[in-house]
Amino acid sequence: MPELPEVETVMRGLAARLQDRVIRRATVRRPDLRWALPDRLAERLTGARVLGLRRRAKYILIRLDTGESMLLHLGMSGRILIRPRGANAPEPHEHVALETEDGWEVGFVDPRRFGSIDLIPTAAEEEHRLLAGLGPEPLDPGFTPKRLKAALAGRRSPIKAALLDQRIVAGLGNIYVCEALYRAGIAPFRLAGDVPTSRLVPEIKATLLEAIDAGGSSLRDYVQPGGELGYFQHAWRVYGREGQPCARCPGPPVCPGVARVVQGGRSTFYCPRLQR
Ligand SMILES: [Zn+2]
Repeated sequence: MPELPEVETVMRGLAARLQDRVIRRATVRRPDLRWALPDRLAERLTGARVLGLRRRAKYILIRLDTGESMLLHLGMSGRILIRPRGANAPEPHEHVALETEDGWEVGFVDPRRFGSIDLIPTAAEEEHRLLAGLGPEPLDPGFTPKRLKAALAGRRSPIKAALLDQRIVAGLGNIYVCEALYRAGIAPFRLAGDVPTSRLVPEIKATLLEAIDAGGSSLRDYVQPGGELGYFQHAWRVYGREGQPCARCPGPPVCPGVARVVQGGRSTFYCPRLQR
């Protein structure tokens, strides 16, 4: 499932092909993804110029000169394909495709259809039901240790669960929460209200920025013909490494290595020695 850095990378790759371009044609091959697609979607996109793109949490907003913005979410398995017009037939499950005036096609492929596309008034983007309740962006300068401390005050839930709550901070998912807690040396089950946010917030930002950099350095490759946006190789420090040696500790018997527990139905990976 794409997380914030992957979505940021997809957004930047899309911007390289769509920014300031006119959508010559839009093709919509089914009436719904996770939810019904907007009425007359193809018609409302055709002829529109793209003024700008941005990411909010795991959503991509594509601002058009029609006064509307396209809101895109990749869901569990959504992918964006970019290719020169006519280079390939549409892929299976390529439900929506945009063709730009300068000869490129952007396809939205989503076999499981947990993704979504909406078309909303640009002036009311932040009021959309999917965006209205979101907490601060973790990479915004305004997301500070003090602000997170205030948001967590009195919370009795484990810090792992609190960081996955999109109302507290937007866009963090399982992988980056595990990584940030490891880097900050904070146990995932520690009560959210007791956590030293001065240690945690810089590590959340650093974890995300490193992953975005890894995605950015792959940009060269993924705007190539037939390219798929946003899925890059990234080495996790703890995520998915159960039973492997912990990178920051001596081996057994000092540190038993990376452990896994299930919290709220999701796997948490952590170092039992380092994270307190
Ligand atoms: Zn360790």
